[in-house]
Amino acid sequence: MNTMKDYEFWFVVGSQFLYGPEVLSTVEARAKEMVAKLDKSGKLPCRLVFKTIVKTPEDATGAIMAANGDGRCAGIITWCHTFSPSKMWLNGLKILQKPYCHLATQYNRSIPDKEIDMDFMNLNQAAHGDREHGFIAARLRTPRKVIAGFWQDADVQTRLGDWMRVAVGIAFSKSLKVMRFGDNMRNVAVTEGDKVGVQEVLGWQVNTWPVGKLAECIDAVSGKEADALMAEYKKLYAFNTKNLDAVRYQAKEEIAMRKLLDEEGCRAYTNTFEDLYGMEQLPGLASQRLMALGYGYGAEGDWKTAAMTAVVKAMAEGKKGGTAFMEDYTYELAKGKECSLGAHMLEVCPSIAAAKPKIEVHALGIGGKADPARLVFEGRAGKAIVISLVDVGGRLRMIVQDVECIKPVCRMPNLPVARVMWKPMPNLKTGVECWIVAGGAHHTTLTYDVSAAQMRDFARIAGIEFVHITKDTTVEKLEQELFLNDLAWKLKS
Ligand code: MN
Repeated sequence: MNTMKDYEFWFVVGSQFLYGPEVLSTVEARAKEMVAKLDKSGKLPCRLVFKTIVKTPEDATGAIMAANGDGRCAGIITWCHTFSPSKMWLNGLKILQKPYCHLATQYNRSIPDKEIDMDFMNLNQAAHGDREHGFIAARLRTPRKVIAGFWQDADVQTRLGDWMRVAVGIAFSKSLKVMRFGDNMRNVAVTEGDKVGVQEVLGWQVNTWPVGKLAECIDAVSGKEADALMAEYKKLYAFNTKNLDAVRYQAKEEIAMRKLLDEEGCRAYTNTFEDLYGMEQLPGLASQRLMALGYGYGAEGDWKTAAMTAVVKAMAEGKKGGTAFMEDYTYELAKGKECSLGAHMLEVCPSIAAAKPKIEVHALGIGGKADPARLVFEGRAGKAIVISLVDVGGRLRMIVQDVECIKPVCRMPNLPVARVMWKPMPNLKTGVECWIVAGGAHHTTLTYDVSAAQMRDFARIAGIEFVHITKDTTVEKLEQELFLNDLAWKLKS
C-alpha cells in the first residue's frame, strides 16, 4: 500500500425504488459511463470504481461497511442522479470511517429546451436529490467535501483528483510509523507533543530506537554497498569537495538508516545532534537523500514535522515541485525587499532544488562530530505553502501559510547549506506576526505540490484545528478566529 495507484475510490449513487426499474437501469448505466470517463480523464491519481446504486437503507449501510473494511478503498464519492431519501443513509453515514466526497453534479450539462418533460424531471433531479443527500451529513456533522459542477469539466475533475490525494494522505497517515533516534532537543517546546493523543487522532505511531543500534548498522555497511551509492551520487550531484571519505560515510549512514526504516516499515524518522553516540557525523547528505526518496524527516527530534513531511510527500506522489523539511532562519528587512531565509543546519530536501545540487563538506559548529557532507543548492522560485503542526494543549492546530518563494536576493557564498527565500503572505511583517500569534513553529514542511485547500480538507477529515494565513489575513481577524476556535474546541472536548 505504498503508492497512489494501489488505492481506489468507490462511486456510490443514491436513488430509490419510486421511479420504476427503467429509471434505475438508466441511472446505473449512466453512473458506469461517468465512472469510466472520469477514470480515464487523466485528472484522477487513483482508480475510480463504480460500486452500487443505493435503493434501500440496507444498500447504503452495506456499501459503507464494505468501504470501511476494504484496505484498497481510500474513500467514497456519492452522487444522487435522482432523489434518495436520506433517512436511508443515516445509519450508514453514522459508521462511515473513510473520507467522503459528495459530488454534486448531473449527467447532462444543459437543460434540453425542447425535450424537457416530466419524465426527464423524474430521471434528472440531482439538484434536489443532492440537497436531500447533503442535509443528513450536515445534520450528523459528518466531515465531507462537497464539489459542485459538471463532471466532464476539467476544474471539477482536478478538484476531485486533489481531494483523492488528501484521502490517500489520510490512509497513509493511519498506518504511518515514525522512527526516533534520540529524544527532542533539550528544552525545546514546540517540537514536543502528546504522542498518544496524536496517534488517536492521526494514526501516527511514534517510537524510539537506540542510536547505538544505528551506529552498529552504519559500521556494518559493506564497502561494496557504499561504493554503489557513491557512484549514484556522482551521477546526480556535482562534487565540490575532495573529502570523499566524509561523503562515503554519509552513504553508509543513508544505507543503514534506510535498512532500519524499511525493516520496521517506518516512513519517517527523527534524530538530534545532541545524541550521535558512536556516529562519526551528523547525517546531512544522508537525511537529504532519504527525504528525496519520500521519507519524512524532522531534526532535533521533531517527530510531528517528520510525519507531516512524509504525509505531504505521499499526497504529492508523482508531482514535480518538491516538498521539504524547512526552518525559518533569518530575515531580510530592507524596505521593499522583505523576505525570509529558510534553511537548516544540513537537512533540506533536494526535491526543491532549482539546479543540480553540490556535495560539500564543512565544519559544523554544534554536535561535536566530524565535518559532515551535505547537499548545497538554492530552492526554486514559485508559489508554495509552509505547514506547521503544533500541540496547543489538548488538541492539535495545523497552521498553513501561503508563501511566494523567490530566487535568493543574495548569493551568500559562505553559507554552507541549502537555502530557500520566500515572501510570506500577506507580507513579511504581518505574516510573521500572524505566524507567531498562532504559535507556528520554526520547523515546517514546505511544499510546492500540495495546496492550502488540500491541507484544509486533510484537517477537516482528521478533525483538527486549521488556521490559514493568506494574502487577506490580518492580525486582528486571526486573533478573533483563534479566540473563537478555543471556545469551540473547549465545547467539543
Ligand atoms: Mn532545527
